[in-house]
Amino acid sequence: GTKEDTNINVLVDEYLRLAYHGLRAKDKSFNAALETHLDDSIENINIVPQDIGRVVLNLITNAFYAVTEKKKQQPENYEPTVTVSTKKSNNNVLISVEDNGNGIPQAIVDKIFQPFFTTKPTGQGTGLGLSLSYDIVKAHGGALKVETKSIENLQEQTEVTTGTKFIIQLPLK
Ligand code: ADP
Ligand code: MG
Repeated sequence: GTKEDTNINVLVDEYLRLAYHGLRAKDKSFNAALETHLDDSIENINIVPQDIGRVVLNLITNAFYAVTEKKKQQPENYEPTVTVSTKKSNNNVLISVEDNGNGIPQAIVDKIFQPFFTTKPTGQGTGLGLSLSYDIVKAHGGALKVETKSIENLQEQTEVTTGTKFIIQLPLK
C-alpha cells in the first residue's frame, strides 16, 4: 500500500464498525458495549491506511474475544466493554484499545508479539495478529505497547479489576 494523509478518527471508526458487524454476523449472541473517545483536534497523519486499519482491526478483534470469554465464565454482573480512544500526546497520535477481559498473565505477556504465539483453541487463532501489527506500526516509525492486569492467584478473584489496553503510537509528522 501507499502512504496517504489520513484522518485517523474516520479510519478507526470505519474499522470498528467492520469488526463489530463481522463479529455479530458470526455470532448472533455477540454483545459487548463499545465506547469511543475520538479527539477531533488530531490533524491528518501520513500512513498506509489499510495497514493501520488492519492493526486496529486485530486489536479490536482480540479485545472482543477477551470480553466474550470472560462473559462465558462470569455471566452475571459483568458488562463486557471495549473502549477505543484517540488522542494527541507530544508529537504522537495515540490510539488505544482497552477491554475489561481477563487480562494477560505475566508469564506470557512477553510472548504475545511473537509470530504464531496463541492461547486460542486450534482454528480460532493464528497467533499472527500481534506480530504483524507490531511490524506494521514499527514500519510507520511508531510503537505498539501493552498494559494489562490479570488475576495471578485465587485470592485476587474478588478484588482485582482485570483487563488489557493496547496503545498504538504513531508520529504526527
Ligand atoms: P491470536 O488472536 O490469533 O491468538 P494474536 O497475535 O492476535 O493471535 O494474539 C496472541 C495472544 O495474545 C492471544 O492468543 C492471547 O493469548 C493474547 N492476547 C492478545 N490480545 C489480548 C487481549 N485483549 N486480552 C487477553 N489476551 C490477549
Ligand atoms: Mg488476534
